[in-house]
Amino acid sequence: MGLTVPTFLLDTGLLFADTYALKRRVEQRYGVAIRSVRPRLDLADQAAAHGPRLWQRNPDHCCYLRKVAPLKEALAGVDAWITGIRADQSAARADARAVEWDDQFGLLKINPLAAWSRDDVDRYVQAHDVPINPLLLQGYPSVGCEPCTSQPRAGDERAGRWAGLEKTECGIHQRLPILDQEPSR
Ligand code: SF4
Repeated sequence: MGLTVPTFLLDTGLLFADTYALKRRVEQRYGVAIRSVRPRLDLADQAAAHGPRLWQRNPDHCCYLRKVAPLKEALAGVDAWITGIRADQSAARADARAVEWDDQFGLLKINPLAAWSRDDVDRYVQAHDVPINPLLLQGYPSVGCEPCTSQPRAGDERAGRWAGLEKTECGIHQRLPILDQEPSR
């Protein structure tokens, strides 16, 4: 008997069209319904409350509103969550373990791929015909929100995320100094 594991996508409203298409392909391929976890504020409401294009002026605050806070709500009452992070993705993830306590959300965090390399992932994808985001084959080794994702010229596979900023994580895998007040404009 198989286990039913609830799955979700953190849908910031700013993902690539290819990412939304991948969600539909994964649902069809594996016969699952992936829940879209969305922020309380849509983009228009966020712009009205915090100014336009918050991701350009204060990406930590934007990530908090569109990723960290919705994830915290989605994980309420849950004993554990499973992620796809790997230790070799970046320096910020080098300490990732297969099973660890998630202090930020107060539950177990399971990272089955923690010790996998990029080559391990590629081999598994090929062997099992796993649907992938086509952007991975177009020079984007890591894909997040469209405004904050670029093709890296050098560095680790997450170097194209928030390129040009010191920011390397959105805050769901690494606690950030979150600004709760209106950011300066
Ligand atoms: S990755 Fe960029 S657009 Fe997405 S939530 Fe964070 S700052 Fe906002």
